[in-house]
Amino acid sequence: MTFWVIEGAYLVASALFVMSLYWMNDPKTARRAVGAGVLAMAIAIVGTLFNPGIVNWGWIAGAVAVGFLLGVPLSWVPLTAVPQRTAVSHAFGGLAAGLVGVAEFYLWQAEPGRFTAFRTSALVTEVILGFLTFTGSLMAAGKLQEVKWIPQRPVTYPFQNQSNVALLGLAVACGVALVWKPVELATLFPLVVVFALAFGILLIIPIGGADMPTVISLLNSYAGLSAVAMGFVLDNKLLVIAGALDGSSGLILSIIMCRAMNRSFANVLFGAFGQVQQKAGAAETRTAKRETPEGAAQVLEMASRVVIVPGYGMAVAQAQQRVRELYDELTKRGIEVKFAIHPVAGRMPGHMNVLLAEADIPYDKLVEMDDINPEMPQTDVVLVIGANDVVNPAARHDKSSPIFGMPIIDADKARMCLAIKRSMNPGFAGIENELYFADRTYMLFGDAKAVVSDLVKQLSGGSGL
Ligand code: NAP
Repeated sequence: MTFWVIEGAYLVASALFVMSLYWMNDPKTARRAVGAGVLAMAIAIVGTLFNPGIVNWGWIAGAVAVGFLLGVPLSWVPLTAVPQRTAVSHAFGGLAAGLVGVAEFYLWQAEPGRFTAFRTSALVTEVILGFLTFTGSLMAAGKLQEVKWIPQRPVTYPFQNQSNVALLGLAVACGVALVWKPVELATLFPLVVVFALAFGILLIIPIGGADMPTVISLLNSYAGLSAVAMGFVLDNKLLVIAGALDGSSGLILSIIMCRAMNRSFANVLFGAFGQVQQKAGAAETRTAKRETPEGAAQVLEMASRVVIVPGYGMAVAQAQQRVRELYDELTKRGIEVKFAIHPVAGRMPGHMNVLLAEADIPYDKLVEMDDINPEMPQTDVVLVIGANDVVNPAARHDKSSPIFGMPIIDADKARMCLAIKRSMNPGFAGIENELYFADRTYMLFGDAKAVVSDLVKQLSGGSGL
């Protein structure tokens, strides 16, 4: 009876995990997806508690309390910090898998019959992937959070890739030896753990902060594979299924992000992207043209087609509601307004979609980069709100630029560009943007929320405009 309750719970939870991922495909069903994921996890936990062999209520109550104490504050982080929060969650996932592997290894020493070649290989895989995900994810979170003692820029040294591969090779070699003689060579096991922990750190330090989201997604995939291995170690089908879903979705997301930046995996992992660039001296003498909210409102009012390009600055300023009001003011006048969505605008995949959906901008006005770019030459005004790297034309032609090859939104091809930001400071990639010095570009300096509010004020009170 207990067997069927547990297996039934795992079956329902697995189906809900699959549906949850499926519903994540569309903003309209994304909330349902979150609900399904939470329900699936609850069913999985309750189902597991039915297992009489593993329950020690004291330990479980303690673990649940610690989980709540850590998890609840993690849910309070602002939207802009979600990438590093996600990395911290992966770190916990990796640590849990690694620790379960350690516990099983030493428990099995008393019953050496359990060390079959397959199970021991799974255990070693679980431990290596789990611990490297743990330290790698903590490093990635630290880089994104701009923790002082973790350098944001790639740290490189001679023979770095070779020494990293050698370290991983050592961990794998010790693992193979353990599969061969798990009891006699048990002293090698702590070395596997130490090598994996060190590899996680060394894997991340040569990667620049700008590539962290892709790396976090890849680490997600490692955590998933570690869970699959743990499923084989513990003979738990749900862990195998959920881990496989996690592993494959993380990998697919990393591939999508690499494509959006026109980069290969190898370039992300070994390219040391984001190293300090030597600036051309000539750039410092250039000046950008300014515009006032009054002037900008007049320009917008005379346009027939406007494209708004939101970026990280809109998220920082929390300007999405004001942007909605601006959208209303313009559409009221019969002006066609669209939003150009770059796949890596902001700091996490879908960042702009989430913010604009929160402000109830109709989904059909959110246009993907590849679809909006052909319309740019016919666009009267492009309004860039706190975006920088995703509209930097250097990505198209400057081979020395760290963002060279990244597809961009062609804001420079519109008839006029109005750009809102607080200063001439660079964006995430740390480089100057030639769009802001172009003939047809006018800067509206200030906080995005304040400037867009000013524009709305001008337009709503604007009988005289
Ligand atoms: P960005 O290049 O980081 O530029 C954002 C701009 O917003 C800055 O230049 C900043 O200039 C301005 N800004 C900041 N706060 C503002 C405020 N309160 N009001 C007005 N402007 C403000 O952003 P992006 O164009 O969205 O490009 C995203 C970058 O992040 C890409 O390099 C991408 O690869 C990387 N990235 C993406 C993800 C992802 O998954 N989406 C994750 C991590 C990193 P001022 O300081 O002068 O105001």
